[in-house]
Amino acid sequence: MNTAIILAAGRGTRMNAGRNKQYLILKNKPILAHSIGIFQKCNLIDEIIVVINQDEEANCRINVIEKYQFNKVKKLVPGGDERQHSVYNGLMHVNSECDIVLVHDGARPLVTHDVIERCLNELRSCEAVSCGMPIKDTVKIIDENRNVRVTPMRDSVWITQTPQAFKLEILLKAHNHALEEKIICTDDAMLVEQLGINVRMVEGDYENIKITTPDDLIMAESILNYKRKFRK
Ligand code: C5P
Repeated sequence: MNTAIILAAGRGTRMNAGRNKQYLILKNKPILAHSIGIFQKCNLIDEIIVVINQDEEANCRINVIEKYQFNKVKKLVPGGDERQHSVYNGLMHVNSECDIVLVHDGARPLVTHDVIERCLNELRSCEAVSCGMPIKDTVKIIDENRNVRVTPMRDSVWITQTPQAFKLEILLKAHNHALEEKIICTDDAMLVEQLGINVRMVEGDYENIKITTPDDLIMAESILNYKRKFRK
């Protein structure tokens, strides 16, 4: 059974919107409704767990889950201080039949069915998958004085996106290990890497952006306009 954990428990302070960015409207719908809607429609997904801020539960239930009839959403779970804690809380509520879990940022409303499918297909031959894309720019690793220390070869640098897909038992092991060792990571793949287990990258989509700052919302709207006009 494939479960998607969709994260919406951040505060989105970089958005400067005075409210959680996931509830901002993108093309007549809350950003979170776009994200959940893609997993709802995907027949590879059996169950969805949405991780939210407790004080936003009524808003999420009424204006997202009930309004758009997301009947695959089985639970709304309160998040934690860090993204990692939010994922952990979600993991504690997956169905007992679940063996594959996908973790997705609610703030990535432009993910596609194809990307979800690529992640799940790849997971048949490994234990952990992240989607991402080759970087377009040259990356510099700097020190605290902003002096450049390393310039990684561009063809080995990818940006990471979500969804990331895992065998449930591996992700649970990685989270429990991080709890014991007091490790905090910014994505789940990194937690699995800490166990010495390979994470395989598959192609995501350059359009699968994360809405973080106000310009991202403008970008997402343009992408949606373009898709509606020129693609199916
Ligand atoms: O902070 P960042 O942009 O990396 O967050 C990625 C996703 O994780 C967002 O959808 C955000 O709502 C979620 N998140 C969460 N709980 C946190 C922090 C972030 O669910 N404590």
